Amino acid sequence: MKYIEAKIGNIVIGKGHPVAVQTMCNTHTADIEATLNQCRRMYRAGAELIRLTVPGMKEVEALKTIRERLRAEGIGTPLVADVHFSSEIAVAAAEIVEKVRINPGNFHRDHEQAKLQFARLVEVCRRCGTAVRIGLNHGSLGERITTLYGNTPNAMKEAAMEWLDMCAANDFYNVVISLKASNTIVMVEAYRLLYAEMKRKGLVFPVHLGVTEAGNGDAGRMKSAAGISALLSEGIGDTIRVSLTEDPVNEIPVARHIADRYDGKRHSSMVSLSLEDRNATATYRALSREDLVIDFACDFGKRLLDRDIDNIVLKGEYSCPGKGTVVLDGTDEAAYLCDELMQATRRKFYRPEYIACPGCGRTMYNLEETFNEVKRRTSHLKGMVIAVMGCIVNGPGEMADADWGYVGEGDHKVSIYKGKNPVLRHVPETEAIDRLLELIEADSHQVI
Ligand code: SF4
Repeated sequence: MKYIEAKIGNIVIGKGHPVAVQTMCNTHTADIEATLNQCRRMYRAGAELIRLTVPGMKEVEALKTIRERLRAEGIGTPLVADVHFSSEIAVAAAEIVEKVRINPGNFHRDHEQAKLQFARLVEVCRRCGTAVRIGLNHGSLGERITTLYGNTPNAMKEAAMEWLDMCAANDFYNVVISLKASNTIVMVEAYRLLYAEMKRKGLVFPVHLGVTEAGNGDAGRMKSAAGISALLSEGIGDTIRVSLTEDPVNEIPVARHIADRYDGKRHSSMVSLSLEDRNATATYRALSREDLVIDFACDFGKRLLDRDIDNIVLKGEYSCPGKGTVVLDGTDEAAYLCDELMQATRRKFYRPEYIACPGCGRTMYNLEETFNEVKRRTSHLKGMVIAVMGCIVNGPGEMADADWGYVGEGDHKVSIYKGKNPVLRHVPETEAIDRLLELIEADSHQVI
């Protein structure tokens, strides 16, 4: 069995190295000062890799300046260029930063052309010492793969293996692979299938884990912790990103907490557990509410995803600045946290399911504020899947199995999707949530 390690600037991942924590800027990369400021905050918070969106050549130029200035300040954190669709941009970025993240399948509609473009990128990466992340998401597998294998975890594995086999054929191994989904069951299954297949073939590439479009708040943290920890506990995963529709700096302590548990640097705050007839009662003594939320999701995410248990009762306490010790036993908060974890692991849908991207340099509106407003006004639509996506370029593809989607077009306009189809385009931002709710209401009357 050969375990590959990827060298990304000053860090090495894979082959038993500690799990690296990463995040992504949500600034416009061409806004150099704003991006630099965010990179500095991420560095201070402990980010070990920082990704930036690179939609065009203007951003490639900005990347150069950002990297030079960070290095001049003594910030050596490797930078990752996030490139979609254009192999030209990926090639240009590969000459500047330590890693490029691509989905080679979307380089070209013709698979043979995409393969040629990928081979060219690999040559540049080899020459420059740049790593590649092949990032395939559940929502953007492309027609060729979904026609062959359906839109399934197996399709994700098959798509990944095609490109990994191509890396091996090109004798290029500075590669990391990811297979993200917002559905935690799909995400865990896809990574398990991929890992088993890599082992079967005797060549195990480093794996980047993440639950994509996880949303924000407790729900975003629990989805990410449940999916990521289920895999880390099985030895799958070498670098992680917790994607939150919040200030990206908030992602880092959550990811660090999860990584440290599986690198043996931290223990769960759970103090007792009883199991009876597939019902768990867990008692925690946590130093903060966030610690409790993450530990709870790490401890029970896998058990719920794998259907080892059916119910949980949460007890214990956590410390809260200003409030002192908050006791959970029998409270609404304890019941709510159990419901949230059941929903994060798709065992129970007690409210709508939200899919929201974290936003990036392609986002042209206040995503965080809009997402919170959409959540507030749709909270009664139990079981419905509603997506709020930052951009029209990747949003519609990435929102996977949403019933409805709110997708930013730029220029203060929004597209509203029903499933995969746009039903309203160019709606002014100020009216878009009203229009979305009207459409949902009209649709529910039709169904009745
Ligand atoms: S969907 Fe969101 S995170 Fe993805 S590219 Fe668009 S704005 Fe960025």
